[in-house]
Amino acid sequence: MKYCLICHQSINETVTWKTIFYPASMSNVCITCQEQLELIGDVICPKCGRKMPESTLCQDCLKWQESKAYAKLIRSNRSIFTYNSMMQEVMTRWKYRGDYQLKQLFAPYIQKKIKHYNKSTFSIVPIPLTKARQYERAFNQAAVIADMIAEYSKQPIMEALSRKEAVSEKQSKRTRAERIAANNPFFFCKTVKTNVLLVDDIYTTGMTLHHAASQLKAAGCHQVDSFTLIR
Ligand SMILES: [Zn+2]
Ligand SMILES: [Zn+2]
Repeated sequence: MKYCLICHQSINETVTWKTIFYPASMSNVCITCQEQLELIGDVICPKCGRKMPESTLCQDCLKWQESKAYAKLIRSNRSIFTYNSMMQEVMTRWKYRGDYQLKQLFAPYIQKKIKHYNKSTFSIVPIPLTKARQYERAFNQAAVIADMIAEYSKQPIMEALSRKEAVSEKQSKRTRAERIAANNPFFFCKTVKTNVLLVDDIYTTGMTLHHAASQLKAAGCHQVDSFTLIR
């Protein structure tokens, strides 16, 4: 008997028209739960991969485009799920309650999505947590996602970034670009000469990934793309 990773009900393994349409994770999540996960399809913001009514740049990306220093830091982001209430619940359990097994829920989706990159070579750089956070949470979700990407893409992981313990958020009359630069929590700790795929669990405003990308680019990295579970 198999049990759903999300609701823990036993999974009815008979094939119905639904299992034909949702084959990706039918082995470990029940149909009811799968239906509540909102997958991002083909109609997206071409830059950040957010689900859109039509394929145009989203508001967040238009904002990033305004700043010369940040417009071209990340070539593109791709994500798997929209952040709806179901995904919020799943992430709370994974991140804050340490339900490590939930990674099995993501694995088949990651395996499928990563084919988007299968003609390129790159180093996989997970977004680090601070040491204090990592201790609190027992594991770094971004690193777990990065491990799965490495397995499916056969590309290497490079832990090229570290994270400062705390960054003070000073209010001042600096420009947006200056403020962003001053508050960058990452620093570079390993040279990466290849293209990079930055990995995080969620893309919210894009600030974290842009901070990380700016450090990588400043250190000579040629091209940065990013991948998150959720957008
Ligand atoms: Zn379920
Ligand atoms: Zn966008």
